[in-house]
Amino acid sequence: MRTIGLIGGMSWESTALYYKLINERVRDRMGKLHSAPVLMYSYDFQEIKEMQYAGRWAEAAADLAKVAQRLENAGARAIVLCTNTMHKLAPEIISKLTVPFIHIGDATAQRIRAKGYRRVGLLGTIFTMEQEFYIDRLRAHDLDVLIPDADARADVNRIIYDELCLGVVTEASRRRYQDVMAALVGRGADCIILGCTEITMLVGAADTSVETFDTTAIHAETAADFAIG
Ligand code: GLU
Repeated sequence: MRTIGLIGGMSWESTALYYKLINERVRDRMGKLHSAPVLMYSYDFQEIKEMQYAGRWAEAAADLAKVAQRLENAGARAIVLCTNTMHKLAPEIISKLTVPFIHIGDATAQRIRAKGYRRVGLLGTIFTMEQEFYIDRLRAHDLDVLIPDADARADVNRIIYDELCLGVVTEASRRRYQDVMAALVGRGADCIILGCTEITMLVGAADTSVETFDTTAIHAETAADFAIG
């Protein structure tokens, strides 16, 4: 198998899911006691959050690129950035690598297109929902993207940073997400992207009338399939 390099800790709650899902995929596909060869760098997420909210993106990009290079130098044959939001910095990271970068947006869009959907509702952090980097990546796969209204975006974002990244899952927040997804479906979304790697802790297929695409599971499976080769 090929070793994969994970850049995690954003947050560690979802990185733990990646680690489990990657290994489950390898076990299911390969049997016996097989598990994934993994190298991981796990960030202190408080430092990342401070850079995000202060708009210190160049600093974050330089740091993430350095970490990706360290993983490559240590033997990683591909890099997996375990967060949707920080894919904002994917171009800077990729420019420093010679191994492949497994892009979460591409992996997700390919799954959605394979199912024939065109109009996606997107949930994620305010950066993912409001900036161009993620939506443009989905549009490049011929998808139309709907995002929640401003109040809903604020709630979706707050629940990610103040609850899910701390491992807190509440019924009130689940209901709020259900309502936000219902509104997106009402506006014509034919499926929903859980476009933040912690959202899968809160909601899934049972919480909306349309199909959901869990970026954590899709990205982890894609990484495991790369490892298997
Ligand atoms: N894990 C989240 C994501 O997938 C949010 C945390 C972050 O800002 O990296 O976007």
